[in-house]
Amino acid sequence: MTDPLNNSYYRATAKSWKTRPSFSQVNKYDVIVIGGGFTGLSAALACAEKGLTVALIEAKTIGFGASGRNGGQLIPGLRWSMRELDEEFGRERAQAIFDLAYGAVDRVKQRIDRHGIQCDLKNGHLEAAYKPAHFDAMQRDAEFLAREFGWKAQIVQPQNMERHIRGGGYHGGIYDPQGGHFHPLNYALGLAEAAEAAGVEIFENSFVRPEEVDAQNIIVATDTWTQDIDQRLGRYTIPIMNYNIATSPLESWQDFLPSDAAVADSRFVLNYFRLSADKRLIFGGGEKYVQTPPADIASFVRKHIAEVFPSLANAPIDYAWGGAVGVTMNRLPHLGRNGNIYFAHGFSGHGALVTTLAGELLAEAVTGTMERFDVLANLPHQPFPGGKFLSRPLATLGLLYYALRDRL
Ligand SMILES: Cc1cc2nc3c(=O)[nH]c(=O)nc-3n(C[C@H](O)[C@H](O)[C@H](O)COP(=O)(O)OP(=O)(O)OC[C@H]3O[C@@H](n4cnc5c(N)ncnc54)[C@H](O)[C@@H]3O)c2cc1C
Repeated sequence: MTDPLNNSYYRATAKSWKTRPSFSQVNKYDVIVIGGGFTGLSAALACAEKGLTVALIEAKTIGFGASGRNGGQLIPGLRWSMRELDEEFGRERAQAIFDLAYGAVDRVKQRIDRHGIQCDLKNGHLEAAYKPAHFDAMQRDAEFLAREFGWKAQIVQPQNMERHIRGGGYHGGIYDPQGGHFHPLNYALGLAEAAEAAGVEIFENSFVRPEEVDAQNIIVATDTWTQDIDQRLGRYTIPIMNYNIATSPLESWQDFLPSDAAVADSRFVLNYFRLSADKRLIFGGGEKYVQTPPADIASFVRKHIAEVFPSLANAPIDYAWGGAVGVTMNRLPHLGRNGNIYFAHGFSGHGALVTTLAGELLAEAVTGTMERFDVLANLPHQPFPGGKFLSRPLATLGLLYYALRDRL
């Protein structure tokens, strides 16, 4: 690959690569899906399962975007806790959001089972408290979630954190056995094969705009690239660059992550990490609010590894890569419809699970079943202020403020 940001462990260990043709419109389709990440693939597969004729068009290759580069952390729910959602939207809407957002875990697991997708799925996710006050809030959230919605995760007291993580000096956490981690690119490639088996025609290396294709309905699943094809819609998200590395396989992995859970900490600019199937540490840390990647991604991330696991400060790093996280103003996903164009984007770093569900909701919407789609489409959203040129600097200032708060 020529893209230095895509020199990932996932590319190196991808299964089932195959080249698909580029797009030229020969057939007419019920649905054309633009974008071959989790959202687009899930939507295309679900549409084909409903008996529709479907083409999926990807500008590069399947999983080229965030879906093939992410941390692989499967974190149930959305970026807001259920306590926050309940306070903001009331119980009835919160319950409907809960059913979808937490139900998304099963949607992904069912796809993996049903299509036999080999993507190194492991159960177990730990949210680790960076400050004691974060642990207090986490406990309140976990208790609320169990009491009001029946979702049970385990509160891990500071002295018991060693069961999951040996390092980091964290102040307790929440272990969710229903969360976990996987190889995201292999999940995307598996979804693509399942979609083709269901009749979807997939085209690669084809950048298209909605007005250039002919179909009854169009699904836009281009996440951080949406601004390139629809400036109005593009203003609802900004891209935040985030970087990952994979070390060489660790012989003594039990000394770092003995339960093999994925871990994400509670900083605003978080560190998140897990083991790959061959026991490399896959570590994400640090964000950049400009698009240019650091000159040396491995050194950029290494600083953060040293904070959590000092003894791995000089561990050999075999792969380093990065990608853009599509973030909305309020960190909730943005779904909607303009005429015959349906879209879902802005999963705000919480997309590994919810995108599969979002794709299925998009498929329901194009076939006229709006009820579940509307639960998420009715979440309030604002475009980033400042118009095309100002929106990013203004948003960046806000983000830097929150990042700074972590250090106080
Ligand atoms: C570094 C990183 C780490 C992350 N870690 C996690 C994590 O651990 N857990 C988690 O839950 N979430 C994580 N996320 C977020 C998650 O990966 C995303 O929310 C999710 O993958 C978005 O999927 P998507 O299909 O909507 O978009 P994408 O996967 O970005 O797919 C969009 C696709 O559209 C294609 N495209 C764009 N424009 C066009 C066009 N005009 N024509 C045709 N095709 C086009 C692109 O090439 C791309 O393949 C992370 C993101 C990044 C970048």
